Order: sequence, then structure tokens, then C-alpha cells
Amino acid sequence: MADGMLQALDAAFGEPRLARATAARRSLWARCGCGREAPVDPRPWLAQGLGRQNVDELEDRLRCLCGARRARLEIRGLAEAPSGITGGIWIFR
Ligand SMILES: [Zn+2]
Repeated sequence: MADGMLQALDAAFGEPRLARATAARRSLWARCGCGREAPVDPRPWLAQGLGRQNVDELEDRLRCLCGARRARLEIRGLAEAPSGITGGIWIFR
């Protein structure tokens, strides 16, 4: 399926849900106010049954190296992954 079609599906069904981050060619990313970006593995949350949560309801479960207690979550296509240094944000609970 083309990325454009997935975006149309996202728009049609409202807020992005966590389970959607596991779709082919999709990944979950966290971005902190300090500028850090990191890929997030959604499996621990899926194991807690959170697949139907909107990703923005999970943002306060993240911690950043800078001390921030939340980071913005986005579901991105593979082509949108940042090319710079990433890491330093992790799932806290
Ligand atoms: Zn930070």
C-alpha cells in the first residue's frame, strides 16, 4: 500500500492509535522539546493492551535524557525517519 493511502486512512479514522505504528513501513518516534528524537519500540505498550490508545495519550510514559517527563509521539513512514543522531528517549512505564 502506498504511503499516501495510509495517510488517507489515518485521516479517515481520526487520531493515530498505537497499533497503527506496527503497520508495514511505519514506525513510532518520540521527539522531545530539547531536540532529541528517538525511535520507540511499541511492543511493551502493546503487551499492556494499549494498542487502541491514541499515541498522544502515551506521551507522558516517556522519559528523555534531558529530564523531560514526556515527549511528543509520532507515527512516521520509513522515508520520514530523521537522518541525524537519534536516541536518548525511552519508555518509562
Ligand atoms: Zn529532552
